[in-house]
Amino acid sequence: MPRATYNGCVIDPQTIAAVMADLGEPPYRARQVYEALAGGLAVDFASMTSLPVALRRALAERLRPVSLEDIETRVAPRGAARKTLFATPDGHAVEAVLMTYDKRATVCVSSQVGCAVGCAFCASGRLGLRRDLTAEEMVDQVFHFARLLRDDERRVTNVVFMGMGEPFHNYDETLRACRLLNDGDGFNLAARSISVSTVGVVTGIDRFAEEDLQLNLAVSLHAATDEVRDRLVPLNRTYPLDEVFAACARYVRRTHRKVLFEYVVLRGVNDTDEQAQILAARVRPPHYHLNLIAYNETGGEFARPRADQLAALRARLEAAGVSCTVRRSPGAKIEAACGQLALRRGEVAPQP
Ligand code: SF4
Repeated sequence: MPRATYNGCVIDPQTIAAVMADLGEPPYRARQVYEALAGGLAVDFASMTSLPVALRRALAERLRPVSLEDIETRVAPRGAARKTLFATPDGHAVEAVLMTYDKRATVCVSSQVGCAVGCAFCASGRLGLRRDLTAEEMVDQVFHFARLLRDDERRVTNVVFMGMGEPFHNYDETLRACRLLNDGDGFNLAARSISVSTVGVVTGIDRFAEEDLQLNLAVSLHAATDEVRDRLVPLNRTYPLDEVFAACARYVRRTHRKVLFEYVVLRGVNDTDEQAQILAARVRPPHYHLNLIAYNETGGEFARPRADQLAALRARLEAAGVSCTVRRSPGAKIEAACGQLALRRGEVAPQP
């Protein structure tokens, strides 16, 4: 597994405290800087006018407040979704999406450059894994959109780790990002407003159950039987459905929290009567909820279900007692919906 190779951003309060100590500054100065970055969303030290000019210069020589450079943004009709392509300092491209609906403003974060899982229907999976992202690079995606929202006097209400990558293949940095977003002295986003989505990494689910944060767990199922899931999600051969559901049951027992199951509906593949029947037997309320997502075509072998087919699947599941919703995909038209976060531009030039 390639490790994160660059950690240029300083949202982490411990890094800031260490640098300030090296500079001979008192601890309250470190807190000032951290609050300006993580609470005030500052993009440079020059704007921190409460600091002496010499200290601002010294910090700028040592630290970089922002790790990602935004390269391009595409906006969906009526502004319901906005996808930004970022460049990492070592020249990779990652994407994140902001979805706004009513009072909610949800940022979908990428946790890796590419993905090793290689789900058959996923554009990100076709890239293979390039490297893990650092926590700072994940948090930076959120801060980027938080700055945009601030201009409209709005704020980020939810963060979902459902973009490019398998978060539990980059577990430590993903959890560090969650803690940074949740930090009451910094960005201060409620843990219950943060969701981490896995395609079924059982060891990750077990670790997640032991965390002391009230984060949400989402598990991408995409099929009700191993036969179909083996074809869609190669990781199913390592963690078959019985093991995934056993881990989810342990998670519920340990945390008393619900599990959200995601199900990308592929016409004629995983929306058959047989799949619906088996799914209904496994995804039982009150602790399990199912989110159906119409597949967004990415030029592969699969087809998107028609609206009436999706409605029929939902009706079948609900009739069988499943707690079920259909997720809107406001980003589909800008290739920002689930499975479409591909590197359209390939590698991008490193930052100077
Ligand atoms: S769906 Fe998720 S886990 Fe599967 S290849 Fe795509 S990014 Fe990776």
